[in-house]
Amino acid sequence: MNLIPFFETAVAALNRNKSAELGDRTLYIGSSDVGSCARKVYLQKKQPITPSVSTMLKFSRGHVAEMLIENIFDAGGAEHLYDTQVEVRHPNYPLKAHVDFLFYTDLDGTPELHVIEVKSVSGIPDEPYPQWVDQLHYQLGLLRIQYPEGKLGGSILAIDLNAGKVHQFNGFEYNDAVFNYLYCRALYLLDCLEEKDEARPSVTQSCSFCSYRSDCPAMTVPKVELPPEIEALANKYAHLNGTKSRAEKEMKSIRQELVDFTGPVFKGRSNTVDLLVSSVAASMTIDGELLKSQYPDIYPEVLKERAGYTKLECKPVKTANA
Ligand code: SF4
Repeated sequence: MNLIPFFETAVAALNRNKSAELGDRTLYIGSSDVGSCARKVYLQKKQPITPSVSTMLKFSRGHVAEMLIENIFDAGGAEHLYDTQVEVRHPNYPLKAHVDFLFYTDLDGTPELHVIEVKSVSGIPDEPYPQWVDQLHYQLGLLRIQYPEGKLGGSILAIDLNAGKVHQFNGFEYNDAVFNYLYCRALYLLDCLEEKDEARPSVTQSCSFCSYRSDCPAMTVPKVELPPEIEALANKYAHLNGTKSRAEKEMKSIRQELVDFTGPVFKGRSNTVDLLVSSVAASMTIDGELLKSQYPDIYPEVLKERAGYTKLECKPVKTANA
């Protein structure tokens, strides 16, 4: 039984079914659009590209995480406290959000509205990504219009299924100024869709996964003739760098398996390898952003110069249909 060809069509069907729950996304600005690059949002809606099976499987990872969280909530007896995939709309414009989990009370029964945005990740970041935060604030803003009174908050639940880790970035509240900014941004995106404004590119870390990167003006570099030996060296550097990134990824998952086996402290020598695991105690560090915002007079006095350096990047050129 060869499952792979079946898999390719079945994963596409699963992806279509899941997207259908969100309605026709070309007709409105959703919460995942509002913090994204305008050019990407425009092209996704006007010239959609069927994602690769690998990308669709990554999308499915998010749905799996949501189902797991739902099962956990229900197993803990919270099934009557929330709804899933709650659609919230702006009263006048096609601006919509689909809230992963909307709790109507706190776990102790105190009335409040609490939005939970679930993110499936490989490696929980120290801080939530700005795009996640924009997404949550957009949801809170649309909910505030619908529910003008009462406590309203939100959190981002990041779950790393491979590492078995979960982290709640909590304490988000509706903020007038932030929502106003996101509302204006959503109206700008609507203008772009109606060809009244230019969908300008904005470079972020998600450019690396962007399907519209090959002809993106923000990514274009001038064409040059390189001496063959320099071109060969640059290609070798790019190749080695790719090997390094793959090795780092593999090392991360092997590391997790080894530490699962040893626990936080271990010393042992087999016939071929020393296996040493030790715990490094937690330590304090200075939060530069907090220092800057709370002690703006002191901040410049504790700055010290960091030496500049030459940054080298060599990447294989991708052709449009690669
Ligand atoms: S590559 Fe980056 S800047 Fe260009 S369209 Fe994609 S997300 Fe936007």
